[in-house]
Amino acid sequence: MKKKIILLGCTGSIGTTAIQAIRDSKLDVQVVGISAHSNQDSLFNLASELGCNAVCLTGKACPPCTSICTYSFFSGLSEMLASLEADIVLNAIAGFDGLQASLLSLKHGFDLALANKESVVCAGSFLFDYARENHRSIIPVDSEHSAISELLKKRDPLEVDTLILTGSGGPFRTLPHEQFSSITVEQALNHPTWNMGKKITIDSATLANKALEVIEASYLFSFPANKIEVVIHPQSIVHSMIRLKDGAVYAQLGNPDMTLPIVNALQQDSVNLVKPLDFSMLSLTFEKPDIQRFPLLGLAFTILERKGSSALAFNAADEVAVHAFLDKRCSYQEMIGVVQKTLERKWEQTPSSFTETLALDAEARKLARSFL
Ligand code: NDP
Ligand code: MG
Repeated sequence: MKKKIILLGCTGSIGTTAIQAIRDSKLDVQVVGISAHSNQDSLFNLASELGCNAVCLTGKACPPCTSICTYSFFSGLSEMLASLEADIVLNAIAGFDGLQASLLSLKHGFDLALANKESVVCAGSFLFDYARENHRSIIPVDSEHSAISELLKKRDPLEVDTLILTGSGGPFRTLPHEQFSSITVEQALNHPTWNMGKKITIDSATLANKALEVIEASYLFSFPANKIEVVIHPQSIVHSMIRLKDGAVYAQLGNPDMTLPIVNALQQDSVNLVKPLDFSMLSLTFEKPDIQRFPLLGLAFTILERKGSSALAFNAADEVAVHAFLDKRCSYQEMIGVVQKTLERKWEQTPSSFTETLALDAEARKLARSFL
């Protein structure tokens, strides 16, 4: 019998890649429920294509439909999750709001294939305990974390010394610092190797995405800041690596395609997921990240040392700043400044529940907005 999945954020970049994998018969699952935020037409079209029983629009009222159950807002998402039988939820919602969807999925008894890194960054202090209490697993979908999780399989964790996350370096990897003040939104949206949603694309240009991923890796694999490294690898062929205590390094390589981590999180033993690498065509390079030009990456390591709610404040300030930059209400440099200034406060309280997380997030957003 086919595995049953619920796909949240089905209209986005990750959602679309997952659905394309089903169309290409790389992912053999039955999608029983889907959500989008406001893209109603695509939601209904996808429901009819995939033969879903239920749909939810989390951002506005969903009109009724004779052939499927429709739900609205996050209260409706909770009702939809309560009503469905499934094996796993793929959470491909963008941003902090994805956390609520992660918690609801675990509460309603589903394993969680997690693309929404914000869930881990903002609620890492209690999310994994919550999953354990509900006897559910969290499987990373972020490509670096998926690679590391594959590399750690069947290996004694005590053998592993360091996690090495790779990053493309984004579109401004070689841009001199003096020119950062004239960076435009269009330039920042032009990512060299990956095609993704707008928020994560801007984060990839500032390396805030790599900062979020360092924090995500620390929570997911229980590694401290001094055991996580970042290496810039512009070709995005090496998805990430682990260094063992004997010094040997193991890596996962593949073309930059999210099909691999998405499908690996949802089913085992797949074949021919991505195009095999032609090594004769490859020229792989690696360099040290420049945290002078990309200070948000450096901030991630400070955040991990500080603990408390710094990671949550970083995410909140970054969401506020990125949306202001996308709306052309601030410059690239001002966007970075908003995050740095928000993190000047101590953020000592460690959240232990969703309610506390919401309150701290609202506080951080308010402070971040005051810098715009
Ligand atoms: P997109 O912006 O492309 O898609 C986001 C999806 O979430 C859409 O379906 C959107 O619906 C829905 N959505 C947007 N806002 C909300 C909200 N407030 N509440 C509920 N649903 C919402 O994002 P991506 O697919 O690029 O990214 C999704 C997540 O995966 C992010 O956390 C990102 O960091 C992570 N990720 C993405 C990668 C990628 O390659 N794209 C790689 C690794 C991780 P609608 O269309 O109706 O607005
Ligand atoms: Mg990633």
